[in-house]
Amino acid sequence: MNPNLTIDRPTFVTHLECSLTGERYEADRLHGLSRAGRPLLVRYDLARVQASLSREALTARPTDLWRWRELLPVRRTDDIVSLGEIETPLVPLRRCVDGPDVWVKDEGRLPTGSFKARGLVMAVAMAKELGVTRIAMPTNGNAGAALAAYATRVGIETIVFCPEDTPEVNVREIAMQGARVWRVNGLIDDCGAIVGKGAAEGRWFDFSTLKEPYRIEGKKTMGLELAAQFGWHLPDAIFYPTGGGTGLIGMWKAFDELEALGWIGSKRPRMYAVQASGCAPIVRAFEAGEEHAERWEDAHTVAAGIRVPRAVGDFLILRAVRASGGKAVGVGDPAILKAVDDAARKDGLLLCPEGGATLAAYRDALRTGEVDEEERVVLFNCATGLKYPMPEAPRTLDRHGVIDFDAL
Ligand SMILES: *Cc1c(COP(=O)(O)O)cnc(C)c1O
Repeated sequence: MNPNLTIDRPTFVTHLECSLTGERYEADRLHGLSRAGRPLLVRYDLARVQASLSREALTARPTDLWRWRELLPVRRTDDIVSLGEIETPLVPLRRCVDGPDVWVKDEGRLPTGSFKARGLVMAVAMAKELGVTRIAMPTNGNAGAALAAYATRVGIETIVFCPEDTPEVNVREIAMQGARVWRVNGLIDDCGAIVGKGAAEGRWFDFSTLKEPYRIEGKKTMGLELAAQFGWHLPDAIFYPTGGGTGLIGMWKAFDELEALGWIGSKRPRMYAVQASGCAPIVRAFEAGEEHAERWEDAHTVAAGIRVPRAVGDFLILRAVRASGGKAVGVGDPAILKAVDDAARKDGLLLCPEGGATLAAYRDALRTGEVDEEERVVLFNCATGLKYPMPEAPRTLDRHGVIDFDAL
């Protein structure tokens, strides 16, 4: 325990653990990856959580992310940094899918317009708690935006590296929210190599996906929320657009913790890791029966958030998907764009391309009988569709001319 830390409310972290070897690491110390080069997982004294928090007490709290604080790592309330992390709604799709409702968990409502806010709000709070003053990160856009926003709020300096084809809006929002942002002529793992080199030289703390332990804890709240929103009976299937896989790994961890608390039973949703067929390392490994995924060469897809050629948590994604009875599935860009278009035009819900990928994968799964119509299904839309290019709407009207009202 760090003696300089004043703890002003009960917290329950006991230690951290290597996700590959189970080796223990002390809490309240700054950690990156484990000695085995794998992500660290935060462990809690769940028996004590159970004794101090009931489902009823939890339910009576405001429905934001911080209602779950007994299951989160931040020790000091003062270290909580917030831009208003609301519980995101489950929006039913009615008209763009055949069959009964399927719910979209619309993460585009979060600060900075994506679910990266969940992970980064936690990671930045912990960085503050542990005395970090400078952070660097490789990003396809949304993670950098969330990092910039939260780090700026607590006065931590940030340097962000994006692949050169990162959407302009992402690069600008990162800069606007106080980070130094650089376009790099490469993919996200090439950016990650630069971050790693600077970290090894002691220039900054490496905030790459899963290379610090707390983003998973933030993303875990998606699983906690789903349980509460579904009345503590988890849905039958979850379709998750998978890049680094933080959210899928986090939800899987959340379900285990909720079961340990006795708040849910042992039934789990089938987890579908959805990737774009132009960048599908997890799908390839899943189909080959491998435990790890090799780097995907020449990655390309319109869904930039899932254009991740290599994931350090590959084995955690694959284990969760297999243990759940789900699958890793790929969808092509045309199906992704069609799904985005249909959800907007028929259901009035503007998805991001990654969210479109989950709808496309769900449609395939219905068609092949992988999922049946009676099942309760959740699709993740991970960012607001407003950040992405939209088709032109070029019609104009001359108010001085003769208006043909029948043609409007
Ligand atoms: C980051 C991102 C993803 C992938 O999330 P992971 O948990 O890292 O797999 C999906 N969609 C969007 C919009 C993202 O920004």
